[in-house]
Amino acid sequence: MKEKNYKSVFIWVLVFITIIFLMRAVNQIKLEEEITYSMFKDLLRDGKIKEVRIRNDLIRGTYVLPDEKDGGVKTSNFKTVPVTPDLKLVEELEEKKITYTGEQEKGWVTAILANVGWIIIFLLIWFFMIKQLQGGGKQVAAFGRSKAKMQGGKKTKITFQDVAGCDEAKEELKEIIEFLKDPAKFQKLGGKIPKGVILYGAPGTGKTLLAKAVSGEAGVPFFSSSGSEFVEMFVGVGASRVRDLFDQGRKNAPCLLFIDELDAVGRHRFAGIGGGHDEREQTLNQLLVEMDGFDTKEGVILIAATNRPDVLDRALLRPGRFDRHIVVPIPDLKGREEILSVHSRNIKLAPEVNLMVIARRTPGFVGADLANLMNEAALLAARKSKPAVEMADLEEAIDRLIAGPERKSRMISDREKKIVAYHESGHALIAKLIPGSDPIHKVSIIPRGPSLGYTLQLPTEDRYLTTKSEILTKITVLLGGRAAEEIIFNEITTGAENDLVKVTEITQKMVCEYGMSEKLGPLTLRKREEELFLGRDIMQRERMYSEKTAQLIDEEVKTIIKECEDRGIKILKENIDKLRILAEKLIEKEMLEGDEVDKLFGIAAS
Ligand code: ADP
Ligand code: ZN
Repeated sequence: MKEKNYKSVFIWVLVFITIIFLMRAVNQIKLEEEITYSMFKDLLRDGKIKEVRIRNDLIRGTYVLPDEKDGGVKTSNFKTVPVTPDLKLVEELEEKKITYTGEQEKGWVTAILANVGWIIIFLLIWFFMIKQLQGGGKQVAAFGRSKAKMQGGKKTKITFQDVAGCDEAKEELKEIIEFLKDPAKFQKLGGKIPKGVILYGAPGTGKTLLAKAVSGEAGVPFFSSSGSEFVEMFVGVGASRVRDLFDQGRKNAPCLLFIDELDAVGRHRFAGIGGGHDEREQTLNQLLVEMDGFDTKEGVILIAATNRPDVLDRALLRPGRFDRHIVVPIPDLKGREEILSVHSRNIKLAPEVNLMVIARRTPGFVGADLANLMNEAALLAARKSKPAVEMADLEEAIDRLIAGPERKSRMISDREKKIVAYHESGHALIAKLIPGSDPIHKVSIIPRGPSLGYTLQLPTEDRYLTTKSEILTKITVLLGGRAAEEIIFNEITTGAENDLVKVTEITQKMVCEYGMSEKLGPLTLRKREEELFLGRDIMQRERMYSEKTAQLIDEEVKTIIKECEDRGIKILKENIDKLRILAEKLIEKEMLEGDEVDKLFGIAAS
């Protein structure tokens, strides 16, 4: 137990004692009147005493007096201190025929027992009050302590083998592992080891996993906590949790302290509309104080994770604090394949399964998504009592993760189905016919999630740069669904809404952010999102351009969209027979794979 626990026990005892004394006092004031011994003797002689309870040092009892107001009698309790042992008292009592009895000295225990009910009630009220204020079912005794102790302190078995697709981050962390393995060696050499490392990356990219793997590789205990736990309702609680976390670190050195969601505490101090947050500021200050106060030589390393590096307080990033920054990226194609294979280690895969194909189908998926995907596929295979997970299960799992489960039960009329089929064929055909657009992976008119159908194109490789003509192609493909509806049915349905949202977004970005408009020139006109988030100078930045420029932007966006639409319509009109073939096939089969589409047009499968 720590000093703090003794303190709280002491406070509790104090509270008990106070309650008991209070209750005794209340008893006595209300119920017993202290009278002199001579008065007691007078009352006794006058025959007013009704009964007495005799103790060595105290006599208690009741006496009756005629009530002046209503002529009845009034019974009162009294107590009095006897003068020396009054040997004649019993005789006198006998004479007046008064009931009398001896009484034992009341001890502590009796007093507490007599008040047990009250104490319990008080305890319950106290307990619930604290629970409510804390907003969770945490133990009263643990109040103000870092939860890290409960979560961590164990050595993990996770190693770098369990983390895939972030080799650079692993490479950078190796130095820290070496240090944690043998802090003394580094001390001798006098090398400078970072105190704190920040892992930047989107949620689910494996930051926590990496930190755990570092402690696993080094064989040191791992203490984890989260920034959000440090921001509590009570001012001061967060700060004391930070203190505890570091205390634990020092005691268990060499070890690794991990703080998830650092941005919850580490946010820029004047960020956000509505000014500061006292509790958070105190916690942040405590964190800075602790970081400055400990020496890396002690063998404690702090790793923090965040997905909002832009909002972190500069003070945290200064040398001697979190001075090492490591990016944990969203995995690329190869990374995704590796992560998939890590997560399929304990899953039986059918021999036909090609994880590369799955990786290609899942751009933008992070580690957590891919882990989820594997798990979902295994569940699907199990549900169908298959001996191993097949490609179809993995595909189905992707579809579920992207668009929600298939809505097989949903009924669509034949006409609706036809419209959807032409719409999707429009997208697919344009994608097929414009050279250089991403290959089609799948076209489907099976309703999924909120959409009625979808056309899935997959880039052959992950791209970081996109050219203007690629963006224009993308817009044309997106508008293709609507164009097909217009050509075939001479009217447009609401089904293209989602496409139009995307088109508008992309086009606006082209004009305002990428500077791809000829009329406006190479300018970025959009305010950066981070700045907006920070709430700094919102007022000044809201508008960076004039009314006239705004009009020009609108015109440019319209022109680009119109050009793309015309291009799409032209392509579809020229290939209307192909459009019909594809749509009819879709109506028949509901779903076509990329190579089936190729076969339909007599193109060799790519
Ligand atoms: P973060 O802390 O970045 O939000 P986590 O480390 O909590 O992400 O990742 C959640 C889960 O996703 C992990 O437990 C692991 O199963 C899986 N995962 C994430 N990234 C990877 C990766 N790079 N390699 C293997 N598994 C990963
Ligand atoms: Zn569409």
